[in-house]
Amino acid sequence: DSRVLSSELSDFDEGFEQSLRPQRLVQYIGQEKVKDNLSIFIEAARGRSESLDHVLLYGPPGLGKTTLAAVIANEMGVNLRMTSGPAIERPGDLAAVVSSLEPGDVLFIDEIHRLNRAIEEVLYPAMEDFCLDIVVGKGPSAKSIRLDLPPFTLIGATTRAGSLSAPLRDRFGVPLRLEYYDIEPLQEIVIRSAGLFNVKIEDQAAIEIARRSRGTPRISNRLLRRVRDYAQVRGNGTISLDIAKEAMEMLQVDSHGLDHIDHKLLTGMIERFRGGPVGLETLAASIGEESVTLEDVYEPYLLQIGFIQRTPRGRIATHLAYEHFGYPMPEER
Ligand code: ADP
Repeated sequence: DSRVLSSELSDFDEGFEQSLRPQRLVQYIGQEKVKDNLSIFIEAARGRSESLDHVLLYGPPGLGKTTLAAVIANEMGVNLRMTSGPAIERPGDLAAVVSSLEPGDVLFIDEIHRLNRAIEEVLYPAMEDFCLDIVVGKGPSAKSIRLDLPPFTLIGATTRAGSLSAPLRDRFGVPLRLEYYDIEPLQEIVIRSAGLFNVKIEDQAAIEIARRSRGTPRISNRLLRRVRDYAQVRGNGTISLDIAKEAMEMLQVDSHGLDHIDHKLLTGMIERFRGGPVGLETLAASIGEESVTLEDVYEPYLLQIGFIQRTPRGRIATHLAYEHFGYPMPEER
């Protein structure tokens, strides 16, 4: 994925994201409501020497769900095991993971909405009663045996809480929704990451990167990395406001954090569909993407900044989008 503004993890991000991950709750910037809630639950569980309730983290990609799961395990002083919905193919895969946990451990399942039904069925008693019902053998000699598990904390992460089955959703004691970040916490994240990279950055430059990051720390860190390269080659290594702006112009990231794909999407709505309503499928086809990708990755930020709206008949481009791209609003709207 070569899109610099993609909020999804790319191979290119992996190594350096690891090095930028905060370890403790106090280093986890922003998401104040989530942190307030968590710190109370963590302290209470620790006080009772119990495992933490199961936690569901939901929100768009790149907002810090994986990071937060690691922070929670750290704060609880337990091990973290990571897996994902698509990686657990058979009930036996899940059984192998949960039966290797130590008491209190955190099991993180990313993309938990992609677990299949058969696995979910195995997960329910594991979450509720810390036990596994396993069928051994085949045919008439098959029997079900019950295995006790140590108490553990399941942390599920998903971009779409709506596609989780109700019985699974109900088994999470602590559902937490991560929000897009404001400029200020993103600026703080940029400055912290620059410190870890050992690169000097002006406050105004950090604000500029924050402003163009689509409310997403993953994008802030990625932009910072590209801007740092630019500063090293075209400047003297320090990231000044001018250098940051030039670099992001070169990357075709505009003042609102929109790139050529957003431009294509929005100007397409305006020019070809008089601003809409346009159906999701049609819109996705206009940028050559699947409709789920449009819904999960491209659209949430555009909805958040009020450039598009959802209506029962499709998406519409708002006056903010018309203004941003310099089009006059059509009269009937
Ligand atoms: P998600 O799991 O929601 O896709 P990640 O947890 O992988 O997102 O976060 C992406 C990157 O953004 C991490 O590597 C981390 O460096 C950074 N990050 C996310 N949230 C924060 C935060 N609250 N404070 C500092 N850095 C953060």
